[in-house]
Amino acid sequence: MSKLIRKTMALAVSAAVLSTAMSPSFAAEPTVGGQESVQDWYEAGNDFVRDANRLHRSMHKAKNVILFVGDGMGISTETAARILEGQIIGNTGEEHRLSFEKFPYLALSKTYSWDQQTSDSAPTMTAMVTGYKAREGMLSVNHLTTRGECDPAVIEANSLSTILEQSAAAGKSTGIVSTARLTHATPAATFAHTSVRDWEADSNKPTGCAVKDIAQQLIELSPTVSKSLKVAMGGGRTYFMPKTMVDPEYGSKGRRNDGRDLTAEWVNTRGANAQYVWSKAGFDAVNPNTTSHLLGLFENSHMQYEADRAADKSGEPSLTEMTEKSIQMLQKNRKGFFLHVEGGRIDHAHHAGNAKRALLDAIELSKAVQKAYEMTDPEETLIIVTADHSHTFTIAGYPHRGNDILGLVAEVPDVDGNAPEAAKDKLGLPYTTLGYANGPGWRDAVATGQKRPDLSATDTAALNFMQEATVPLGSETHAGEDVAVHATGPMAHLVHGSMEQNWIYHVMREALDLSEHHHHGRDHKNQH
Ligand SMILES: [Zn+2]
Repeated sequence: MSKLIRKTMALAVSAAVLSTAMSPSFAAEPTVGGQESVQDWYEAGNDFVRDANRLHRSMHKAKNVILFVGDGMGISTETAARILEGQIIGNTGEEHRLSFEKFPYLALSKTYSWDQQTSDSAPTMTAMVTGYKAREGMLSVNHLTTRGECDPAVIEANSLSTILEQSAAAGKSTGIVSTARLTHATPAATFAHTSVRDWEADSNKPTGCAVKDIAQQLIELSPTVSKSLKVAMGGGRTYFMPKTMVDPEYGSKGRRNDGRDLTAEWVNTRGANAQYVWSKAGFDAVNPNTTSHLLGLFENSHMQYEADRAADKSGEPSLTEMTEKSIQMLQKNRKGFFLHVEGGRIDHAHHAGNAKRALLDAIELSKAVQKAYEMTDPEETLIIVTADHSHTFTIAGYPHRGNDILGLVAEVPDVDGNAPEAAKDKLGLPYTTLGYANGPGWRDAVATGQKRPDLSATDTAALNFMQEATVPLGSETHAGEDVAVHATGPMAHLVHGSMEQNWIYHVMREALDLSEHHHHGRDHKNQH
């Protein structure tokens, strides 16, 4: 009998009937399935069609745009995060929706770059913020740029103007928030122009290379962008500190060779009401009404995963709290704002083969989106939620409805009973629903004589559990399939169908009515 037919039969009879008909050991198993009545499914479908018929296109221009990027948040990550959040609040989980899954418009984004089938974050974010597909590892410069280009004039000539810079030129306020280092690829693509994403501090560059490092670029923005960038918050503190300076949180040293303290330079160059904070207490004390320009650097490197945040030495704001404070800062400008918010560490947890931290960070991103939606007027703010690229993350097997998304695959009770589904290895070992096609989760079980590890006594929902991977790699990789683009607000209907990733920029530009500010290169008049 095929698996599907067996499953259909099992679903057709109630769990009560099954429990009397089946073996006694099976009778003790919990009932599986949802709470919905037969009518519920039909009514929900009717509601969906009714709401879809009422959808109207907001044809007017957007005053504000918020671009949320879940770094590495592929569609399987959205699905698993949705289920996990639903299970955390006590439901079966599958029927749950993340905040942005309620947005009316959706598209698929093709994430390849000019030279990569599967991309890294540099060209993908460059595509979203400049409108052009660029090369591996390069930030907001065109594909004609040579890797390792150290001539500032060449970088200048090949630079691509970003949506943040164009919003600044249009008189809007701008902001950047990330749980990764502010100098990391995704946030950096909004303000930096360089051929090597790793040049985050001057000590990361080859000696004598005259192109400004990324931290320096954030401090030495053009006057227009510098005035406009009201808020920049994330990690990466040591990239802004000289090697002689002691870190306030950890007592370690900065990593700048040039002796510059860029955090002090931020305060000194942004006017009398500029502020720099590095702890949760400092963050909480910031009054958005009296602060003109806010720099927050809450970790030496990346900020903590949401799962570990409460244990941080000096405390950190959550992504939701940073989003809230940023919008409070930016809403003061009646001409509107452009804000980029990155859930930067979904990607890092996936690279580590650690699904639980990735999903908890994706849930936190969803909460930040919810906060932004509540704080803004849907008639004037376009909110886009997408990812730069996917990961090799899978949801597999035939787990029953409500099965712990972090657990071993347990099928709908049927003739096999409710034991975890066994794999076809010699010992018939169970396996987890979540897995990776590659990465550090591959177990070298040769020594034990097994082909796979026996997870039957392992807590697969533990925070540090690493899901199994098919191919052993030190770091799990990105994946090349499309990612989702969710949108709501003015011009959100332009997000539709199968899109090239760089078209996201064109949607935002159209929504913000920035056409007259668009250049193939940057506005040279605004440069230092
Ligand atoms: Zn990555």
